[in-house]
Amino acid sequence: MEIREILSDQRAFFQSQKTKNIKFRKIYLEKLKSLIIQNEELLYEAVYKDFGKSKFDTFTTEISFVLKDIDYYLKNLNSLSKPRRVKTNLANQLGKSRLYPDPLGCILVIGAWNYPYQLSLSPIIAALAAGNCCILKPSEIAENTMKAMAKIINENFPPEYLYVFEGGIDETTQLLKLKFDTIFFTGSTKVGKIVYKAAAENLTPVTLELGGKSPVIVTKDADLQVAAKRIVWGKFLNAGQTCVAPDYLLIEESVQEQFLEMLRNYIKEFKYDPGSEQYTRIINQRNFQRLIKLIDKEKIYDGGKYNEDKLYIEPTILTQVNWEDDAMQEEIFGPILPVIAFQNFNIVLNSILELEKPLSAYLFTNNSEEKENFMQKISFGGGCINDVIMHLSNENLPFGGIGNSGIGNYHGKYGFETFSHQKAVLERATWGEPNIKYPPYSEKKFSWIKRFL
Ligand code: NAD
Repeated sequence: MEIREILSDQRAFFQSQKTKNIKFRKIYLEKLKSLIIQNEELLYEAVYKDFGKSKFDTFTTEISFVLKDIDYYLKNLNSLSKPRRVKTNLANQLGKSRLYPDPLGCILVIGAWNYPYQLSLSPIIAALAAGNCCILKPSEIAENTMKAMAKIINENFPPEYLYVFEGGIDETTQLLKLKFDTIFFTGSTKVGKIVYKAAAENLTPVTLELGGKSPVIVTKDADLQVAAKRIVWGKFLNAGQTCVAPDYLLIEESVQEQFLEMLRNYIKEFKYDPGSEQYTRIINQRNFQRLIKLIDKEKIYDGGKYNEDKLYIEPTILTQVNWEDDAMQEEIFGPILPVIAFQNFNIVLNSILELEKPLSAYLFTNNSEEKENFMQKISFGGGCINDVIMHLSNENLPFGGIGNSGIGNYHGKYGFETFSHQKAVLERATWGEPNIKYPPYSEKKFSWIKRFL
């Protein structure tokens, strides 16, 4: 069936009001949950084929995430979808004001390949929970996971409710010409602009979950062992192909030597060796070639080796890096960590301010003045103090970027709100209203209304 027809069927299905029923939404969320559990092995195999991601990482960073999301909405759907009373101002007394969360209608979700299940299914779960119909276009770059999701969903869901559309740039271009009620896109800033432009043609609102260069700063007042362990984990998880991975490290010069040694020890301890089942591969040749060009041989402190056939790049640390170096020009999105030493904390914050606003930022310190300055000065989507990445695992925090790193957010109740319209309604009593706003006007009414308003 043509995708245009599927969308038209979805529109008719949405108009039938079926998806507005909370019980209906819960039945399908439960169904998706059982399908994921039943097909867990198939999902692991697909992502392992795509880029060697281990079962452990796939479970902790994707499957558990998605299951937790479903549980969140199953538990909170009744309260999230209830109309919410707000205060009514004096001019509208006697009246009641309410917000009615209204599903938007037909949603397009475009996914990225690097966390293929989480980044495709999490937005869908929020969209279905909010009462919408949905078309998912996963990333064709992770082909096996795309096919696995299409198989599981298309064989078990009515296409007029939820449908996975497989394809690459041509198919996405075709999809973007259709009119959706919102588009939720995860991917690069470059493609985000293409999506935004196409959406503008239909005045379609968008959520753009993009990337950028996320800094991590470590000062001499940090717990250095904890910082090194968490940074090595967060940077080299998924071989650095994580949108919120620390992109580059800013380290206070007086502790640089000691800290670099700790990083090296954790890389060794975590056994990110060639051939290790626990260390993810680079997704494809194109990204592999892009990444190895960023490894300046003169500046390698640790790692730097790679294997083209296996698309493996060792965890690599570059030192003596300048802001002008190639590795500092664009988001790295791979297992290469450039390190820049600094002497003055406030000056280094100013350097971050000169770059685009990042998706995430991280600070390791126990100094409250540094924490305060960091929070006050730097604008970023979300982040952590004394950790990396973990902020996005708390469903009570909205996840999204700012400026070049994105528009809008999701997770938990924020996801539900992203896919809902807050219909604002005032209900008036039909009695007890003074006559002063109605014509014919008089000087007396004018002086009353001036006092009143
Ligand atoms: P990408 O922008 O290349 O692709 C994303 C999606 O867009 C894919 O489904 C692809 O098919 C489609 N696409 C690609 N080119 C297109 C075109 N010309 N026209 C229409 N559609 C097109 O991104 P990617 O390589 O999959 O992911 C890497 C980027 O995504 C990084 O920048 C990363 O930081 C970012 N990212 C952000 C988040 C987030 O949650 N903020 C999560 C993961 C990745």
